[in-house]
Amino acid sequence: MPALVTRIDAIRYARHERPAAENFNAPVDDHDQPMPLDYFVWAIHREGLAPVIVDTGFGEDAAMARGRAMIRPVVQGLRDAGIDHLLVEDVILTHLHYDHAGSLSSFPNAHFHVQDAELAHATSRAMCDHGIRAPFDGEPVAQLVRKLYTDRVVFHAGDEEFAPGIALRLCPGHTAGLMVVCCETERGTVVLASDAAHLYANIDRKLPFPIYLDEPQYRAAQDRALALAGGSLDHLIPGHDPLVLAAFPSENGIARVDLPPHKPVLEYL
Ligand SMILES: [Zn+2]
Ligand SMILES: [Zn+2]
Repeated sequence: MPALVTRIDAIRYARHERPAAENFNAPVDDHDQPMPLDYFVWAIHREGLAPVIVDTGFGEDAAMARGRAMIRPVVQGLRDAGIDHLLVEDVILTHLHYDHAGSLSSFPNAHFHVQDAELAHATSRAMCDHGIRAPFDGEPVAQLVRKLYTDRVVFHAGDEEFAPGIALRLCPGHTAGLMVVCCETERGTVVLASDAAHLYANIDRKLPFPIYLDEPQYRAAQDRALALAGGSLDHLIPGHDPLVLAAFPSENGIARVDLPPHKPVLEYL
């Protein structure tokens, strides 16, 4: 059977320089070594159909407020991948943290897909806790609520088939309703894991990234994302790993993650 997903772009738009210590929930030997995070949106291409965008990224205001280095606006990143943001019809929001749902206005003609549990949580009393609230921004959440009132929000309840070749799988723990996106490509199922795994090292070292609602649930979600990828790191695309651009064929900060890596990802770790 021909691949249903013909291309997946991981489009980098921002970066945060930081030491390794900030990326794990326990002490690590290389704690003061640089271990930056990259920020991505993803584009899933299918024959004859508009690309499906996964996450919106954030804009200049959030970059300034949070000290992240903007490499290019998300809209420019999409343009560099040959995508007109005005023609995007569907955006899957893996979760509602500022770096994944902070630029809804870049997609004025899109429907936004979100898990029931995620929007419920982001508008609940849990946001009175400043620690839980920290990775969310109020304005994008409010924008999403406004979009609900103009029929632009599509809710998903747990695991659902999004379209032929694209499946949504609920993997909570990092947030209440984080979902990963499974894509059927020529080389098998590629899992866009978003923040189920910030970095390959979070999986490899079995040390969570230190933002989660529930650690056992986070660990189970990471196990599930890896199982959905057939147990292969080469088929799991983490949310924030600069290694994605190094390991997969890439040009101009855009990695083709539908293609196999240059060598097994494990050999880079
Ligand atoms: Zn997150
Ligand atoms: Zn993130």
